[in-house]
Amino acid sequence: MLFFGQKRGLRSLGFSDTMGLMEQDVHEIGLETPVQFLSGVGPQRAKAFREIGVECAGDLLEYYPRDWVFMPEPSDICDIGAEQTVCVVGIVEQTDYQPYRKVPIFEVALADDSGILRVVWFRGKYLINQIEPGQVLLVHGKVKKYKYQLQMSNPKFVVLREDQVQDPSAISGPVYPATGKLPNWQIKKIVRSQIETLAPMVGELYDAAFLDKNALMGREKAYLQIHKPDDEDTLGQARRRLKYDELFLMQAGLALKRYHVRHGSPAVEMQRSEDIDHRIRRRFPFILTEDQETVIEEVVADMAKPVPMNRLLQGDVGSGKTVVAVYAALVAVANKCQAVIMAPTEILARQHYQSMERFLEGSQVRRELIVGGMTGKKRTELLERIKAGEVDIVVGTVALLQGDIEFANLGLVIIDEQHKFGVHQRAGLRKGQSPHCLVMTATPIPRTLAMTAFGDLDVSIIRHSPPGRGEVITRWVQPHDRAKAMDFIAQRLKAKKQAYFVYPRIDSDETEDVDSKQIKAAVDEYHRLKAKVFPLFEVGLLHGQMSADEKTGVMAAFRSGKLDVLVSTVVIEVGVDVPNATMMVIENANRFGLAQLHQLRGRIGRGQSKSYCFLFAETEDETAVSRLEIMTRSRDGFEIAEHDLKLRGPGELFSTRQHGLPDLKIANIVEDFELLNLARRDAFAMIKDDPMLTNAAHAAIRTELIKRFGEKLGLVDVG
Ligand code: ADP
Ligand code: MG
Repeated sequence: MLFFGQKRGLRSLGFSDTMGLMEQDVHEIGLETPVQFLSGVGPQRAKAFREIGVECAGDLLEYYPRDWVFMPEPSDICDIGAEQTVCVVGIVEQTDYQPYRKVPIFEVALADDSGILRVVWFRGKYLINQIEPGQVLLVHGKVKKYKYQLQMSNPKFVVLREDQVQDPSAISGPVYPATGKLPNWQIKKIVRSQIETLAPMVGELYDAAFLDKNALMGREKAYLQIHKPDDEDTLGQARRRLKYDELFLMQAGLALKRYHVRHGSPAVEMQRSEDIDHRIRRRFPFILTEDQETVIEEVVADMAKPVPMNRLLQGDVGSGKTVVAVYAALVAVANKCQAVIMAPTEILARQHYQSMERFLEGSQVRRELIVGGMTGKKRTELLERIKAGEVDIVVGTVALLQGDIEFANLGLVIIDEQHKFGVHQRAGLRKGQSPHCLVMTATPIPRTLAMTAFGDLDVSIIRHSPPGRGEVITRWVQPHDRAKAMDFIAQRLKAKKQAYFVYPRIDSDETEDVDSKQIKAAVDEYHRLKAKVFPLFEVGLLHGQMSADEKTGVMAAFRSGKLDVLVSTVVIEVGVDVPNATMMVIENANRFGLAQLHQLRGRIGRGQSKSYCFLFAETEDETAVSRLEIMTRSRDGFEIAEHDLKLRGPGELFSTRQHGLPDLKIANIVEDFELLNLARRDAFAMIKDDPMLTNAAHAAIRTELIKRFGEKLGLVDVG
């Protein structure tokens, strides 16, 4: 600290960095040193560095290049021969554009001390103002013999600045993600001046045998090579090593998280006898699907153990997850435990309650719905009964159930995340007790994400929906076909079918008041449809600013068939289940993400008859077009999710930060899937052997994990 203080003092007195000071820096700098105190940085640039997330020297080490350029040493013109790929630096003696040839060419006579080389670019008109006589030009390409003369065609080239002329090899090397305030050459210069000092400080994480087994380059060398690669092969090895580290540490974090959940307070071991199974099954008016059977067995096996279940159940909308939830809840109740089912919104909580009611009619299981409107005495009374163990199953919203509610003997928590990824929310409910935990989501999660973002959970999947689902036909409707689509819809409304009209979320950066703008669009459209388009039918409106009662009323009217058309914003929950609604129009469909389109469409196709989804969209945007095309082609949630991941990249699809994990700087979970697998296996094996990382051989890994994840992993208080 003192050192920095002194240095700042010197700066403010107007001393610039002398060589002496820089020498001194070299000795005092550590990975934690703020970038400002690195030579060549200073307060202004430090600010620019902070804007790109580089706070300290260690961050600079991990500010990885986005690309690398490999230029060979320049050759003398007199030495080069035909068919060689070479790099030449020379002065532009003459330029000539010849537009009248069959293929117009731009020609340069490039001279060095040893000779002259003819360089041509076919269709090179664009170069007229870029390359001019007198410039020093670096060209890199293949030389061929043309009419007894050597000629280089269409080479890569750089016009060298004066400072580069001294050392043309400076062109080679890393290309950093640059900004206006921090151009690439500056980042490069700063990293270059520090790298030899910083890289040796990183230390090694693994022993020699481990490195050898996984064919990993040493850590110090990897950091050196990623910024200053010798050649492409070594660079490849360096990248692999750094990606491995990133993935390994992430997986070790997940393994630890999992370990702590499993080895905190124990959970109740719940038995399921044949009799219990029989009594539960009797409640379902259908035969369970194969997938439901499998998942139920996985869940029951988990609940029989003294370690709390920590399982994620994935299945598309309508795949039959509720049955699994009800089965699990009844197993808990049969074991004299309470169960809660939490939904993200009140509508969904009500719906869960209603579907449960359908199954539990006449049962002695005591179940209650707790909702926001509940006040005063009624609420207090209910809370008392829950606390006294007089309620077996409680259904409510996540927000409500994470509040002040106390349970007598909570044995199972079921969270229907529906379409959100906020699995971390479940943590809040674990106060004191260790219930088993089942998280359900209707968002199909690609396996790469399941291994990273949800890598601490066990995963169950319902792939196939119950039989008897009607086909869903999806069409992308261009503006000139809208009228036709509307006619078609009117015809089917006449046949007593129902339709949803959905209006998009408006991207939040477009306007501050997103909700109201969206609502306005839906409201306007509602009036238009009602008055002009479907005057013969009943049209209803649903949006986020309506009261809970109003929403419930509109939903009930739609469900009962009183309303033919339901206009809604997407705030409206997607779990609503109205089998007779067989049409959906999604306006401005190009504005929706794939996952969202898929979820919305999941509302139709729930009954036996054919359903129709019309995507109204006018766009030439490439990714929007591919999203729309995938939608018209596929109904498979996992396939769609994999596409989504490819189109958007993992970063956007799922913010790992939400889950307490750092963003990946170099590894890509899609492209580096093999490495991810390897790192995951290694990391989980390590934590299994040494869960607290007290083994001396794991000290460096432990330090690195604490540095990355802080206290979250429960490592800090040990050792
Ligand atoms: P999810 O919660 O996964 O969206 P639900 O559990 O609500 O799906 O199930 C959707 C519909 O399918 C419900 O009407 C439910 O009663 C019905 N269903 C569930 N399982 C079966 C089954 N095995 N056979 C027939 N219908 C089923
Ligand atoms: Mg559901």
